[in-house]
Amino acid sequence: MSIVIIGGGQGGLQSADSLRTEGYTGQITIVADEPGLPYQRPPLSKDYLTPGKEALPLPLRGEAFFNDKNIRIVRGVAATAINRQNRTVSLADGTTLDYEQLVLATGTRNRSLTCAGSQLPGIHSLRTLADAQALHTALPTARNVVVIGAGFIGLEFAAAARAHGCNTTVLEFAPRPMGRALTPVMGDWFAGAHARLGIELKLSEGIDRFEAGEHGRVATAVSTTGASYPADLVVVGIGVLPNDSLALEAGLETGNGILVDANLRTSDPAILAVGDCANFPHPLAGGNIRLESVQNATDQARHVARSIMAVERGQTEANPYTDLPWFWSTQGPYRLQMAGLAHPQDDTLVLGDPETARFSVLCFRDGVLAAVESVNLPADHLAARKLLGGSTRLSRQEAQAEGFTLKSAAKSLLAAPA
Ligand SMILES: Cc1cc2nc3c(=O)[nH]c(=O)nc-3n(C[C@H](O)[C@H](O)[C@H](O)COP(=O)(O)OP(=O)(O)OC[C@H]3O[C@@H](n4cnc5c(N)ncnc54)[C@H](O)[C@@H]3O)c2cc1C
Repeated sequence: MSIVIIGGGQGGLQSADSLRTEGYTGQITIVADEPGLPYQRPPLSKDYLTPGKEALPLPLRGEAFFNDKNIRIVRGVAATAINRQNRTVSLADGTTLDYEQLVLATGTRNRSLTCAGSQLPGIHSLRTLADAQALHTALPTARNVVVIGAGFIGLEFAAAARAHGCNTTVLEFAPRPMGRALTPVMGDWFAGAHARLGIELKLSEGIDRFEAGEHGRVATAVSTTGASYPADLVVVGIGVLPNDSLALEAGLETGNGILVDANLRTSDPAILAVGDCANFPHPLAGGNIRLESVQNATDQARHVARSIMAVERGQTEANPYTDLPWFWSTQGPYRLQMAGLAHPQDDTLVLGDPETARFSVLCFRDGVLAAVESVNLPADHLAARKLLGGSTRLSRQEAQAEGFTLKSAAKSLLAAPA
């Protein structure tokens, strides 16, 4: 048996690693279109851009991993087509790989702007190591930075630019930062926190066009309100699109990503998909969802390894994938951690004092705890993961009791007989 994995990122590498851990002894080949050793993306918008920090990529696995685990990696070569009938994958270098099981871990690509001037030199996006290297070089001499989009990556970059002493403006079309993922109370708190860092956060204001200066580089960003902002460095962070074209062209079901079932199998049972590119059913989402996080990519990769091995051994497939989603983002001095999936309509309860920048927002849905957002309180986050991962549900009434803490609630939950 041989397994091919397309994509050498978080989900692809973890799939290969977990297959070996689960006892798979056949051939594993990872096809990775990026050059070099696969690396971690989260530091690219954080430590990597911090003033004075060395710009070294953090590898996902060391060079020795591939030899030690007998995993072949084809680097700097894209997979170009899947032939489902012959069970082969064609690569851009003209070679073909046979598979019995295929894992798609192709991730996402950045959405790009189409407004006037969006191709001017000085306008960047941030996803790959090459993108981060370009920004690492540009930041020390930049003066006026404009960020388009107040999502996680845009705001992480804005905090880094501010730390370099740049005048930093963020334009966000929506009325709140990170509005798709955070509760309004947390979104509003972050709007204030970025203002305290000295970042100009312009909400309900999008980009209309960019204008060039005398050297042909970007010099001005003109917003939808007609306001002009000086800009010698621009970062566009307006979200991503799933890399699902290989799947689509192979006739697999797609729609905001590659559609998979509860065991992460596509409409062809010999092909699975994990990570940012997979659109999967999850009980907490009340339907299908596509998540963009390290947790999701690595937990799904572990799941497909178990699933493939169960079938290989003639056992029933693993239980459906239901792992608790969690996420983090570091924006200047603020470490945001989220457990569960918050909805903007959730009934919220704040624990701790937001003025101290150490607090948690508990989200209740139908009267029980559904998600927790924490700022600079890693112990609350870990406790929230235990609570939300267990079968007991915490009510709002219990959380409002005198002396309640997430830590003590998680402790008593663990101590309770199963
Ligand atoms: C700057 C930045 C900061 C982030 N910060 C955080 C964070 O703080 N916390 C967090 O949880 N998540 C963060 N993320 C998101 C996280 O990195 C992703 O969710 C995670 O990497 C997803 O893993 P993946 O394997 O699905 O995709 P990726 O890790 O993106 O890997 C996909 C790989 O597949 C390759 N590929 C695509 N098509 C082909 C093809 N046809 N042939 C061969 N290779 C192909 C791509 O080039 C890519 O290398 C961040 C992302 C970015 C960009």
